[in-house]
Amino acid sequence: MSITENNLSAEQLRERYKLERDKRVRNDGPNQYLKPSGRFAHLLEDPYINREEREPRTDETTVAIIGGGFAGLCAGARLKAAGIEDVTIIESGGDVGGVWYWNRYPGAMCDTAAMVYLPLLEETNYFPSEKYVQGFEIHEHAKRIASTFNLYEGALFSTSVEEARWDERTKRWIIKTDRGDELKAQFLTMGTGPISKPKLPGIQGIEDFKGHMFHTARWDYDYTGGDRTGQRMEGLADKRVGIIGTGATAVQCIPHLSASSGDLYVFQRTPSSIDIRNNRPLTNDDFKDLQPGWQREWLLNFATLQSGGFADKDLVKDGWTDIAIRIRDRIINKIQDTPGASLDDVWIEAFSESDDEKMNEIRARVNSIVTDDSAAEALKPWYRQLCKRPCFHDEYLQSFNNPSTHLIDTDGSGVERIDETGIWANGQHYELDCIVLASGFEVHIVHTAHYETYGKSGESLSDHWSDGMKSLHGINIHGFPNLFILGLAQGGNLVANVTHNFSESSTAIAAMVRECVDKGYETLEPTLEAETQWVNSLEVQDRGFLANCTPGYYNNEGHTTTDRDLFSSARYPEGSVAFFNYLQEWVESEDFDGLTFT
Ligand code: NDP
Repeated sequence: MSITENNLSAEQLRERYKLERDKRVRNDGPNQYLKPSGRFAHLLEDPYINREEREPRTDETTVAIIGGGFAGLCAGARLKAAGIEDVTIIESGGDVGGVWYWNRYPGAMCDTAAMVYLPLLEETNYFPSEKYVQGFEIHEHAKRIASTFNLYEGALFSTSVEEARWDERTKRWIIKTDRGDELKAQFLTMGTGPISKPKLPGIQGIEDFKGHMFHTARWDYDYTGGDRTGQRMEGLADKRVGIIGTGATAVQCIPHLSASSGDLYVFQRTPSSIDIRNNRPLTNDDFKDLQPGWQREWLLNFATLQSGGFADKDLVKDGWTDIAIRIRDRIINKIQDTPGASLDDVWIEAFSESDDEKMNEIRARVNSIVTDDSAAEALKPWYRQLCKRPCFHDEYLQSFNNPSTHLIDTDGSGVERIDETGIWANGQHYELDCIVLASGFEVHIVHTAHYETYGKSGESLSDHWSDGMKSLHGINIHGFPNLFILGLAQGGNLVANVTHNFSESSTAIAAMVRECVDKGYETLEPTLEAETQWVNSLEVQDRGFLANCTPGYYNNEGHTTTDRDLFSSARYPEGSVAFFNYLQEWVESEDFDGLTFT
């Protein structure tokens, strides 16, 4: 198809988007996926480390941190920097890194620019090698933070928490793990992430496949050969490989599978939107003018532009800021051109027009790269860009020009079934040696996904939040003393740079612990009144945009998102930068308004 297609009217585009959405909505919605438990439990085993036996721990630590990803590391680093030495990380992986520990698939990298995504760059005196860095460099940085702040000391790896319970008598948290630990902690910090549990496509016959199969979050380099730095996977040279899924993960690993596999079959249900990556090495020229405090300046600049605000310069200058700036400038032009128009009048129109413009560019880009017309047609996304995770890549679309890479588009219906020897799609059987599952992750309200946390009254956090999350600042919870949570919700909710949320909350957590230690307080807890006031002040996301989106984990697979879920992703109404500034002032005032110390 040609450029004329990119000239569809806005109404025609909406019709096409609706048609494509309706094709994909399934009755079983989120229940179409399988948990990797029972007969699939082996798909969750850690392929990267041999778990070493050790004695259970029953001693006491000042702060226990569940999760050794960037959330836990930011908290640990800020606590150590505040002079709190006795900090214990508990992590199910064999090392720190979180998603960057588990996701070692070839090509793994972060879509957010390294100068803002990698936390604590100044504190660790590290400069990223590229604008967007590879997963292994990100993992190395996680290890660097742990070493710099002495967070390896006493850390419990290959250890999964089974329960955390507040003991009102001793005023301590008791944390039980699958290694028999019963660790006591005065404070508990949880940074367990919303998408850390792999899920499997619930495809009939998946258990029958006799070839090799693994999930992208547990890449089997023993089978494929190669490594996470992108070395050719020699083990696949004579193999017929199938990959199920074309989301953000698949987009990154498909170019590598395409280069290494005898034949690669890509089973596509919905294409991703693939914008330009434009990666480049960073050199001394990029760093020479940076002054102390530069990273927070960059972080706030990125967050400001992301939230539609103004800044003298776009320091990061990438696909994320491009989308936001386009919308912002359109709004301004419309307000100037329409006397009496308000922001509310023009916002939706400006958003729609910018989105149509961007998606037309993305579809035109497919035409300009993919040589086979029918493949190009099938690779075009027909939905609004923010309906699914936007992707940025400069080799993905090119993979489909490789004669040994076969796009098996299923026009929204997905893989039909799997049998002993391969995959059925569109009524045709594809014989395969290996199936790679790029089927994504379960999405949870953070902190209730992996284990239960019991507060002062013995109530579990899941029950406490049965009508939706309730917190002060997205950090403290009434009824759960000395507990801190690290996430996005009910705070800045800056989705385009997740780690920024962590580093700001961590500063507040360290200040609260320091206050207790300095003044000899045993506990801190938000008052019910302060928590309720905070929750009532938050902005709940508009259901309308996502309801009309093509199915995916952003919109509960096309099914109505519950009030509970919407509420659990509520945010500070004035946006992320305003929230970060508010939190900083709250800390610096040293009043800790809303908390009770005893
Ligand atoms: P996703 O949930 O985004 O993708 C799952 C894929 O599996 C989709 O393409 C889905 O199709 C497909 N699928 C599921 N069932 C079937 C079926 N029966 N037949 C065919 N296809 C099927 O998971 P990802 O792992 O790709 O990404 C998860 C998240 O991880 C991202 O959204 C992002 O937040 C994060 N990530 C971030 C990166 C970064 O740069 N920072 C890089 C990689 C991941 P359909 O779309 O039709 O549902």
